Amino acid sequence: MLKKDLINYQNETHEDSSCPKCKGDLEFNGGSNMETENWHCNDCNASYSVQVEMVRFWDTLVEVE
Ligand SMILES: [Zn+2]
Repeated sequence: MLKKDLINYQNETHEDSSCPKCKGDLEFNGGSNMETENWHCNDCNASYSVQVEMVRFWDTLVEVE
C-alpha cells in the first residue's frame, strides 16, 4: 500500500466523525479538556465522548517574556 493510500485509508476509517448508531454526522459539542471531547448526533440525539491526544511540537518552543 502506498503511503498516500494509507493516509487516505486512515482518514476514512479514523477521522470520520459519524454516529455509530445511525451513521449521521456528529457535531462538536465542546467539553474539550485535552483528554476527551464531547460530540453529539442531531439525527438520533445521542451524545458521545471521544478520547483525544494532544501533540506538543517541542521544536517550536520559544521563551516568552
Ligand atoms: Zn446518530
